[in-house]
Amino acid sequence: MAKAKPAIARTKTAKGAPAIRTAAAPRFSNYINGEWVPSVTGEYFENRNPADTRDLIGLFPKSNAEDVARAVAAAREAYEKWRLVPAPKRAEIMFRLGEILIRRKETFAREMTREMGKILKESRGDVQEAIDICYFTAGEGRRLYGQTTPSELPNKFAMSVRMPVGVCAIITPWNFPMAIPAWKLMPAILCGNTVVMKPATDTPLSVYNLVKACEEAGVPPGVVNLVTGSGSSVGTPLMTHPDVRLVSFTGSTEVGRKVSEACAPSFKKCNLEMGGKNVIIVMDDANLDLAVDGAIWGGFGTSGQRCTASSRIVVHKKVYKKFLTQFVERARALRVGNGLDERTEMGPIINEAQVQSILHYIEIGKNQDRAKLMCGGNRLTHGEYAYGYFIEPTVFADCHPDMVICQEEIFGPVVSVIPCNSLEEAIQIGNNVRYGLSSAIYTQDINKAFIAMREMYTGIFYVNAPTIGAETHLPFGGTKETGNGHREAGVQALELFTEWKAVYIDYSGRLQRAQIDTAELSAIPS
Ligand code: NAD
Repeated sequence: MAKAKPAIARTKTAKGAPAIRTAAAPRFSNYINGEWVPSVTGEYFENRNPADTRDLIGLFPKSNAEDVARAVAAAREAYEKWRLVPAPKRAEIMFRLGEILIRRKETFAREMTREMGKILKESRGDVQEAIDICYFTAGEGRRLYGQTTPSELPNKFAMSVRMPVGVCAIITPWNFPMAIPAWKLMPAILCGNTVVMKPATDTPLSVYNLVKACEEAGVPPGVVNLVTGSGSSVGTPLMTHPDVRLVSFTGSTEVGRKVSEACAPSFKKCNLEMGGKNVIIVMDDANLDLAVDGAIWGGFGTSGQRCTASSRIVVHKKVYKKFLTQFVERARALRVGNGLDERTEMGPIINEAQVQSILHYIEIGKNQDRAKLMCGGNRLTHGEYAYGYFIEPTVFADCHPDMVICQEEIFGPVVSVIPCNSLEEAIQIGNNVRYGLSSAIYTQDINKAFIAMREMYTGIFYVNAPTIGAETHLPFGGTKETGNGHREAGVQALELFTEWKAVYIDYSGRLQRAQIDTAELSAIPS
């Protein structure tokens, strides 16, 4: 079929980016029913490097509801066979997938840094997370445990078994371009579901790489489908499609609320992993060097664009000055640049809209909140930064916990330092936000650590480590406006991607009525 000349839409644009040469840019496809196909629209959007927007990575299909319908139909058909494949056999494919990801780790990491900006070390970690979840989940293929339990009636057997849910929609953000899609994809297909994946428009390449690896590992046609495009033209028709039984979403709380509302009328299962405003508490007995290390990594890793970013540091007044001096000195010294350069410590921001949003919060911090700007606060535009989206590591001090910059998710390299007088006050400040993802305490006192662990109303808690660094075999998720009660990763992900079926087998040969017939001991064979 002759390909129509593509219409091109821009996503990441920066002032000064030259006109694009579409002929030179690789053109990518959707993956539907085991085939790599263009969108029915014939249109494409650009994927550009946020560290240097002159670097056009590729053109991805600008899909619509018809592409979604085709992908869901393929997933629906494949489901009828895939759900009957024994789970240990599904797991064997997943083990092969893990090996492919290991072989490609460096290539995928470099491509991820190029499309998303995070430094290479972190991109390698992102791919590693996909590998970890792959192996962990594949191991579950020989477990997927249910329960057997005694019946209240004689000669009757009772058990519960896991069933797949059906077609799952996987809608993901750009900040963990391979890890988050993998967290969802692996347990979904291991449990016998089939999926349609919709990556963020800023990072389609990493999901493309993951899906390519699935194809190479031998995942049958239709089990994994990929449709790229915007939230409104792909995400919305996907999550409202009647044949989709589950929507697994990670992204902002605002969009998560829309997903929840869209799923409610048809009672689709949905899990929402959303925003965070995470806190590190630094007590007066903390190892301060360690706390500063943690706050730098937690606050400025991935340029602060992590749902678990340590965006608030609550510090005991006795060590406040000392901590702040060291922290600001280290933040100021961070080497900002292109993540592909191994010397870079903090990469770019994902796109122009996100730059504007972060600068807006910095202005609020300076003017409305009147917090003390200790370092940063500016966009970097000169020299090596001219064609990218860079913002200086920014620290506000002497913040009041109710300030806008201490309450809202900024999702950038902006950290607020808040003084406190006691552990009780620190815990109260820590919990006083609308999110509940991750929290941490630095202390040498085991009693304080345990009290904070008990009192912090977050899904994740660390002692003497920052708020980032989740491992794939533990449950991941948060409370309040961070989540809707589900957890990803760990064995908890199996709860999400399966439905329980309770099974009763009566071999008494007569009608036995639960709650009504009392078991006569004499009726039980000796
Ligand atoms: P986003 O909500 O803008 O987008 C997430 C995904 O939803 C994208 O694929 C997007 O295209 C899609 N989408 C957007 N509008 C939609 C609509 N109307 N219908 C259906 N789909 C739609 O989030 P983002 O900017 O990509 O990511 C940043 C956010 O993600 C932050 O708030 C961050 O805290 C959150 N996040 C949370 C976790 C977690 O596990 N809790 C992890 C990473 C990121």
